[in-house]
Amino acid sequence: MSKTPNYDEKVKAILDATKPGERVCPITKKTWVLTQNEIDKYRQWMVPVSELHPYFRVKMIGGWGAGVDLWWKPHVYTGKPILCSTHPDSLNPVLPDREYYQKDHGIEHGIDYDLLRSLFEQQKTLFASCPVPSLFSTASENCIGGGYVHCINCFMVFGSYDSKNSWYIFRCRFVDDCIDGVFLEHCENCFSCCMSVRLYNCIQVFDSLDCLNSCFLFDCRNCEYCFGATNKRNRKYIWFNEQLSKDEWESRRKQIDLSSSKIFDEYRKKFRDFLEKEAIWSEYTNVNIQESQGEYFLDTVRSSGYFMTKATDVENSWFISFSQQIKDTVIAVDSEHVYLTSVAANSQNVKFSFVIMSSSQMEYCSDCRNCESCFACNGLQRKKFHIFNKPYSEEEYWKRVDELKCTMLDKGEYGKFFPPSFAPWIPQTGFSSVVAPFTQAELEAMEAPIFDPKEQMRFAPYIKDQVLHEIEEVPDTINDIGQEWVNIPFEDKEEGRRFNVNTKELAYRKQKGYPFPRRHYRARFKELVSQINSPEQEIGICGQCEKQILVNKNPMFSKKKVYCHDCYINYLEKTPIF
Ligand SMILES: [Zn+2]
Repeated sequence: MSKTPNYDEKVKAILDATKPGERVCPITKKTWVLTQNEIDKYRQWMVPVSELHPYFRVKMIGGWGAGVDLWWKPHVYTGKPILCSTHPDSLNPVLPDREYYQKDHGIEHGIDYDLLRSLFEQQKTLFASCPVPSLFSTASENCIGGGYVHCINCFMVFGSYDSKNSWYIFRCRFVDDCIDGVFLEHCENCFSCCMSVRLYNCIQVFDSLDCLNSCFLFDCRNCEYCFGATNKRNRKYIWFNEQLSKDEWESRRKQIDLSSSKIFDEYRKKFRDFLEKEAIWSEYTNVNIQESQGEYFLDTVRSSGYFMTKATDVENSWFISFSQQIKDTVIAVDSEHVYLTSVAANSQNVKFSFVIMSSSQMEYCSDCRNCESCFACNGLQRKKFHIFNKPYSEEEYWKRVDELKCTMLDKGEYGKFFPPSFAPWIPQTGFSSVVAPFTQAELEAMEAPIFDPKEQMRFAPYIKDQVLHEIEEVPDTINDIGQEWVNIPFEDKEEGRRFNVNTKELAYRKQKGYPFPRRHYRARFKELVSQINSPEQEIGICGQCEKQILVNKNPMFSKKKVYCHDCYINYLEKTPIF
């Protein structure tokens, strides 16, 4: 028996009346085609059809995923500035994570709602009064960053799980002893690597699996002692795709000191130019997929979107792992039946929500943990049958939810996601800003607030009397850089952000032989991500058989040579294996 019979009848009538055909996205103005098959899928979700272009839908939700920025903002009760992922100009008040988890702060802010008024208008009060955890961390020790789970001893760790002893990592899982890493899984002792699985002791490797002791690799698998290699399998002692003897390779490698910024940059440029000429890109970079259409999939069944591991029946979503039955969602782990949501972990039956952990039957909720059957709630912990953070009996709850959903549907509000102005960070700086940045026109059409990145420091306790230095003043090679450069602020003018290097980081880079950072870590993350394929697809032509294929755009290698999967496999088999 349905618990919301009136709503069910109403949405069914709307879907019955919905006809397939061309639609125009109100934000991007791009046209898209709604098929009968998609309308039938909406029946399973029991929601009205989204008016947004499918790609923009998920990109918009991606704007809500944790980005890579930290700011200073006053503690909601004491006013003392604290480091947090929430921008000082955002609606949301903040509390240090430890204090946040000590009790349910949200329950103190419950409101009586007016059925006739807009839900968003009323929920804005909750977004503005319920504190959010400063770093959105869970079960982690000795870390600084944002949105990380089960991490230990990490500095500037963002959106990552089960990682330790690492610096500046974004969207990583099971990494250890890594610095400057994005989209890495099971990697150890790596620097400046991206979108790779099971790397050990590697520098500047991307789109690769199972490689060791190598630098500058693209699309390599099971390679060791390689320096500059593209599309290689099971190889050793490769030097810019040339086979060398062990002695020759070791002698050349010894002459290159990558702890010099100049030499590192020179080889990075050489590798990119080489890659542009030599590399073949497959139409997709997926491993073990069935009936799936997307990029960077591992063990995925009947799914579409970007970057998934062990996902089944996931449609138009990004960064999904160990999850099933998901649509138009960004970031879901161990979750099931999730629709138009940003960040769901260990949760089931979630719709139109943001940061839902270990919860079920949640709609229009934000930042709730261990909850069940809640509607339009913020910042609740261990609650059941709540609406606008107030408790109801089970019977009363469902009666009211049915009523609320019906009036929202009548007003055209049900089916839409929260306005971007409610987010603790903004589309400008969220997950999307690194993998698929919004255009100015999109930000304006979304009515996204524009926050100044320089405001990072508005409440910073140490900012006064700091003298900025030019990064060019710092010696080139890491061993020539002394303590006089520790904690010295530099400005990344392009990002509008300041950065410095602390004693531990300098010692770590010296020990590993990595160069001194010359840009803010946000710029370094963006540069790493710009090498890999973006979530956006376009129609391309196979460079071999000229078959039409779907290709993911690549910001850095816009003229990449792409083969359809069959031609790509054929190309790989023809390259000799030693
Ligand atoms: Zn082909």
